[in-house]
Amino acid sequence: MTSLARQFSRHDSYTPDALGVDLGRQLILDTVRPVSGGEHVALHNALGRVLAETILSPIDVPAHDNSAMDGYGLRADDLAADGDTTLDIAGTALAGQPFESRLQPGQCVRIMTGARVPAGVDTVVMQEVARAAAGRVTLPPGQRKGQNIRRAGEDLRAGTPALPAGRLLRPAELGLIASLGIGEVAVRRRLRVAFFSTGDEIVSIGSAAREGQIYDSNRYTLFGMLTRLGFEVIDIGVVRDDPHTLETTLRDAATRADAIITSGGVSVGEADFTREVMARLGEVLFWKIAMKPGRPLAFGRIGQPDAEGDGGAWLFGLPGNPVAAMVAFYQFARPALLCLAGVDPVAEPPLLQVSCTQAIRKAPGRSEFLRGVLFRDGADWKVRTTGPQGSGLLSSMADANCFIVLGQTQGNVAVGELVQVQVLDGIV
Ligand code: AMP
Ligand code: MG
Repeated sequence: MTSLARQFSRHDSYTPDALGVDLGRQLILDTVRPVSGGEHVALHNALGRVLAETILSPIDVPAHDNSAMDGYGLRADDLAADGDTTLDIAGTALAGQPFESRLQPGQCVRIMTGARVPAGVDTVVMQEVARAAAGRVTLPPGQRKGQNIRRAGEDLRAGTPALPAGRLLRPAELGLIASLGIGEVAVRRRLRVAFFSTGDEIVSIGSAAREGQIYDSNRYTLFGMLTRLGFEVIDIGVVRDDPHTLETTLRDAATRADAIITSGGVSVGEADFTREVMARLGEVLFWKIAMKPGRPLAFGRIGQPDAEGDGGAWLFGLPGNPVAAMVAFYQFARPALLCLAGVDPVAEPPLLQVSCTQAIRKAPGRSEFLRGVLFRDGADWKVRTTGPQGSGLLSSMADANCFIVLGQTQGNVAVGELVQVQVLDGIV
């Protein structure tokens, strides 16, 4: 028995011919490790990249106490115990234009949101309740010492972690890094992912499809899914169902990429020569996942990793049917590729419960990923299917905004029953 197979068979429920979706995903995630290598990039080029090092805040954020309101800054000691308080307006503190002197008893300053709180000021009263006239302002009772002031370091303290290594950089992270005055970050190198389609019947767009041939769509969905994840993509084209071509293509791809994604050629009947070729080049397991669509899946390595875990490439052999290929990509390849790219932790996409407006026939024993449409019905969000669910019907993916995820043990769904959905916008 080879090493991956040995490792996986330690799980009691490891059944390669009827593998549960969650276990399959877990086995893959337990096996892959982030690739090494990184670079420094300017913040503008860091969107979608993965932080390679924890960022410690070099400063307090905010850097100084500042006003949370437009209003009047004062000393709480000057507030009347009950009744109105009237104070002299000694000056103005604007954001970026501080009031430089110390506030004296009986004085206040006009202060704007974000302005540095002047020395002596410990309380801000919002302007909506103040009455100003002739250089003085009158404030109502009921003010609390310390109110409406944002404290220095309230968001982040100097020297404490602002963002952890492994964080995928989204717009909020870019802004947070910028708020620290940092303009360049250490990120992981971009993951290199090669992909190709297999099948004698598959032709690339640009060539005319003859009788019995179909245009290759999987390379375009794969291009899109991989590019969305921020990876460097290597499109290898269509490979004929021929052992020699498959072998040379895989060998070559493994020298250029961290991961290889294939589609087609892993279903029963087709798998035989694929299995032989892959067995020669590394260790690839052929699973039947207890799911629909997307039953056949190959996972393993082509070539040998070096001490760093680099060298060779991880292989994900997706089914050929266009919807099955996409579903299998999202459920198995996506989390694994994010892990390889250094994302830590790889977040599980949320499953939400909504009422289903139609009956669904479903046999227990396998998970199903139906293409669904979440829609608004008055105050509630509900879900329906996109219609026919054939694993070759790409329009069902194009029309969907979610997967309806029916678990392995679930049976038929009745009208109005709650079902789990995975929102596509969270994963595409
Ligand atoms: P396979 O997994 O190779 O048995 O393919 C299953 C089905 O998916 C067959 O009907 C293939 O024609 C179709 N198929 C395989 N690869 C592609 C592709 N790249 N684009 C569109 N359809 C495909
Ligand atoms: Mg095929």
